[in-house]
Amino acid sequence: MTDSIADNLRRIHDRIAEAALKAGRNPGDITLVAVSKTKPVEAVLDALAAGQSVFGENRVQEADAKFAGLRAAHDFSLHIIGGLQTNKARDAVRIADVIETLDRPRLADALEIAIAREGRTPTLLIEVNTGAEPQKSGIARDDADSFIADCKARFGTALVGLMCVPPHDEDPRPHFTWLADRAARHGLSTVSMGMSADFEIAIACGATWVRVGSAIFGAR
Ligand SMILES: *Cc1c(COP(=O)(O)O)cnc(C)c1O
Repeated sequence: MTDSIADNLRRIHDRIAEAALKAGRNPGDITLVAVSKTKPVEAVLDALAAGQSVFGENRVQEADAKFAGLRAAHDFSLHIIGGLQTNKARDAVRIADVIETLDRPRLADALEIAIAREGRTPTLLIEVNTGAEPQKSGIARDDADSFIADCKARFGTALVGLMCVPPHDEDPRPHFTWLADRAARHGLSTVSMGMSADFEIAIACGATWVRVGSAIFGAR
């Protein structure tokens, strides 16, 4: 048996605190989003029992299947962190506390309608495709400023920040720095970046949320 989820969480929190202090930042300003995609509900229950209360899932259907039944007995925040199809917008608004992947005007349209219909407004982040990778979701860098302004006008204070997933094979630093700078310019307080392999670098570059999966729940 490998290390327990509780052990892993403790270790990640230690590493977050160390990275924050090294960067002259307050560890309390960084939120750990535990990415439980592909993992069973038992893994989520272990994490909840260890005090983890913020979770990320890529797919709306999987998130709903895993987390809907936990609401009655547990307090947690559920983030959608995977690219979102417009036809899933309503389900996402219904089940998610945070949608981190608002990335195009048509999705903004769909979310606006879904928010009105559901009478519920999740917290929103805009995903930027900082590496201009064709297979990835995210608004293009060049379109980010106007899209951020558009979403601020549409969603007001529900829009809190920016998110990115840099290219796998590149130094993430320039991507992280660009995202943190762009969020600051727009007065957005939340910067979601960094995963198991690079969350400490992301913290050095200004991340306020780090999304960590395999380092907590094991390889997928
Ligand atoms: C899977 C995933 C993560 C977590 O990745 P790990 O390498 O397992 O930490 C973070 N963010 C997004 C968008 C993901 O899809």
